[in-house]
Amino acid sequence: MPLPIVHHPAFTAEIPADHRFPMGKYRRLAEILSAEGLVPGGFVTPEPATADDLALAHDRAYVDAVLGLTVPKPIEREIGLPMNETVVRRAAAATGGTILAARLALETGLACNTAGGSHHARSDQGAGFCTFNDVAVAIRVLLAERRIATALVVDCDVHQGDGTAEIFDGEANVTTLSLHAERNYPVRKRRSSIDIGLPDGLGDADYLAALSGVLPGLIDRLTPDIIFYNAGVDPHRDDRLGRLSLSDAGLLSRDRMVIGAARDRGIPLAGVIGGGYGADIDAIAVRHALLHKAAAGFVD
Ligand SMILES: [Zn+2]
Repeated sequence: MPLPIVHHPAFTAEIPADHRFPMGKYRRLAEILSAEGLVPGGFVTPEPATADDLALAHDRAYVDAVLGLTVPKPIEREIGLPMNETVVRRAAAATGGTILAARLALETGLACNTAGGSHHARSDQGAGFCTFNDVAVAIRVLLAERRIATALVVDCDVHQGDGTAEIFDGEANVTTLSLHAERNYPVRKRRSSIDIGLPDGLGDADYLAALSGVLPGLIDRLTPDIIFYNAGVDPHRDDRLGRLSLSDAGLLSRDRMVIGAARDRGIPLAGVIGGGYGADIDAIAVRHALLHKAAAGFVD
């Protein structure tokens, strides 16, 4: 059976063409995955997350404000996206996509979304291009359904997973690991279960050593029921926002290391794409496709 890959056309929202968020990457990523033969049976299409799903990880008042298009301007500015109907539909669809990827991972062992990783969204509001915290919502949905009792979030986006850390603060059954550039956004970091703040300019070998120094032991200690992997490509050396210096090969090695660590131990893993920034949409989408290529290599 091929790797289940989740995609929805609504992942691409309508924002101004000159906006600094590279919205075109979602459509381009889907095209690349199709062209490379990674979705022979087609994408799996998610339902949007419901208000009740979203309220498992977010304040109901914030969920209602987003879905009702009444987010206060200061919060809209903090999110950094115009909160129009397509952006809201995208946020619900991407969250539904991560919920579906998690369900498929529990069934088949491994599944990936073509969006997700909105890790700056905290319980009471979004921030940093993140409206809803899709991974946190998916974990809370599966916990509520008693499909899982424990989860591990492996967040390798270059930015710290502050929203996820805040949502699960003090929750012993959900462990958050954030491997990030210490000097990248957010300035005010929240405390994850484990934070590894990396120095500017770190390259492949040192990055992979930092990850391999913590991940296998952590998984062995926790044996979580599921792992959520945020495979942000913004640690890449050409990324417009990230302060690290990974190559394409380094990102691919990283993805294989994380997915392999889960596979070796028979632990289901759901992958989400996280951040990746720059003007060259094609280059960013190619980088995001590394996650799906790496994952596909563990299937069949
Ligand atoms: Zn990021």
